[in-house]
Amino acid sequence: AIQIQGLHKRFGDIEVLKGIDLDIHQGEVVCLIGPSGSGKSTLLRCINLLETYDEGAVLIDGNCIGYSETYDGKRVPASAASVRDARRDLGMVFQQFNLWPHMSVLHNVTEALRSVKRAGRREAEARGAAMLEKVGLGDKLHSYPANLSGGQAQQRVAIARALAMEPSIMLFDEPTSALDPELVDDVLNVMRNLADEGMTMIVVTHEMGFAAEVADRVVFLEDGRLVIQGSPDAIFNASDDPRLERFLGSWN
Ligand code: ATP
Ligand code: MG
Repeated sequence: AIQIQGLHKRFGDIEVLKGIDLDIHQGEVVCLIGPSGSGKSTLLRCINLLETYDEGAVLIDGNCIGYSETYDGKRVPASAASVRDARRDLGMVFQQFNLWPHMSVLHNVTEALRSVKRAGRREAEARGAAMLEKVGLGDKLHSYPANLSGGQAQQRVAIARALAMEPSIMLFDEPTSALDPELVDDVLNVMRNLADEGMTMIVVTHEMGFAAEVADRVVFLEDGRLVIQGSPDAIFNASDDPRLERFLGSWN
């Protein structure tokens, strides 16, 4: 579970997150929606400490992974090693897949298992193959990324790579927005299956259909604030919040 408490993030003079409070429960699928620049990616990046934050806390299973407090109440950044440890619990999938072009699909998936988790070759390959099977690429283990058809398969490799690390939480930042429209569904299906298996997921998405169908909760951010959250039905059908209406209107 994740607890986000009073989270503030500034880039120079610009405050990008203006006090976000959000709890995500074990097994919950939370979709984050909101206009461009509202702070969705920054929020995800603060959760897995790709960004530092200025105030507040992000607790993963009750532990603040980014900072600790000294005896006199000062906040000090956690050591790189403890951040690295904590981050292992979090799988992250970005819009850009960032696969290694010179490594086979299987090698892409097993690389971090071996170098970070120190898994043996056999164990890593068995696990990698199982994860690739899970995302529907069991027959592509020895292909190279460039030889896969389009971004859709590459994104599924990226998902398999994240899953291979056995994260307890998966973070997705617009995983389908760089894909051709006709290729989006395969990736969404993989995510839907993960949700059905009970994975805790935070998904930044513009796929309102996916959010409506898969999310347990939809959270609407605007201008660095959490404006409204609720069930998909409450957000997509029953809300008369003008800011949300304006945003949803621009997508229809
Ligand atoms: P989009 O839907 O376009 O992905 P977003 O909701 O993910 O938008 P963020 O990427 O979190 O928005 O950006 C929020 C604000 O923070 C934007 O105004 C952006 O310009 C600013 N910002 C993000 N990263 C940085 C950075 N490294 N340095 C300075 N400003 C940044
Ligand atoms: Mg973004």
